[in-house]
Amino acid sequence: MTRVGIPAGLFYHYYYPLWKTFFVDLGAEVISSSLTNRQTVEKGIAVALDEACFPIKVYFGHIQELNELGPDYLFLPRLVSVEARSYICPKFMGLPDMIKASLPDLPPIIDMVVDMSINSKGLEQEIKRVGNIFTTNEKAISQAFRHGREELCKYRQLMQTGFSSSEAIEIWEGQERLLTTSADLQLGVLGHGYSLYDRCISMNLIGHLREMGCRVKLVETCSQDEIEKAAASLPKRVFWTLGRKNVGAALHMASDDEIDGLVYLACFGCGPDSMIKEFIERRSNGKPFLGITIDEHTGEAGLLTRLEAFCDMLRRRRKIDFESNLPPYGQYACGSENSL
Ligand code: SF4
Repeated sequence: MTRVGIPAGLFYHYYYPLWKTFFVDLGAEVISSSLTNRQTVEKGIAVALDEACFPIKVYFGHIQELNELGPDYLFLPRLVSVEARSYICPKFMGLPDMIKASLPDLPPIIDMVVDMSINSKGLEQEIKRVGNIFTTNEKAISQAFRHGREELCKYRQLMQTGFSSSEAIEIWEGQERLLTTSADLQLGVLGHGYSLYDRCISMNLIGHLREMGCRVKLVETCSQDEIEKAAASLPKRVFWTLGRKNVGAALHMASDDEIDGLVYLACFGCGPDSMIKEFIERRSNGKPFLGITIDEHTGEAGLLTRLEAFCDMLRRRRKIDFESNLPPYGQYACGSENSL
């Protein structure tokens, strides 16, 4: 059986169920690298360009691990655009070339071009081209892709209930996962899924917040309408798909009284994040905001300290608001207007 390798990084977190179903239905065996660990990071850093952002470096590590499993093909899609009038970060466009240049001893690469910026005709042709590697039966190819999209819908529904992509993939693969229900704080937690939902890259940021008594609201728990409506309040349309989702979700959450604060995880060296993080911070309507920038040198202890301090601050702020005799801005610090 032909073995297709899908690295467990970058857009794995958004589309793995689609591509796995597609290849399996065409009769291939799909293998993927293990979830990111310290060795993956070290291997990636050793070969990737210094200028690359952290998740791209980690992706290089995934490809090397996957290559050791001996796949017949590596699936490295060239993502340009996944929706009309919007684009994915330019680093994704050149990714297959960067990988071929840095890692010469790889099996044949399936570098399907995904460009839906104008329409989906190009993607249909690419699906057919890739499907022809496995079969000449055109009906089977389109059925496999349709089935892939159905599985993608199921996976997205899981994420809408509050699971991160890593958790949703585990559930989709048949494992059991439960969400914590007891929490006294509710936080909006944002960032690119391939960093935020990767437990090693994010140093388990979501898991730590849940352990600290926070219910976490993610971009995927907001509806498309809520995101687009909030993002439309910006003077200019954000044409990066992930950037717009993050800004839209953040602005929507910022107007939600139930949300105590916002946390944004950015990667050092990320061009879009350098702007998107600022946008969110400046327009978050006074909502407490914690911006965290990580790279391969960031330590987990420092991250924990910042998360704990943020949660403590939110709890103190709530207590002060409740008691009303110690307002946070110094007014009536010795009693209210109506008492001595
Ligand atoms: S959006 Fe940022 S983090 Fe994502 S690939 Fe591009 S530079 Fe890297």
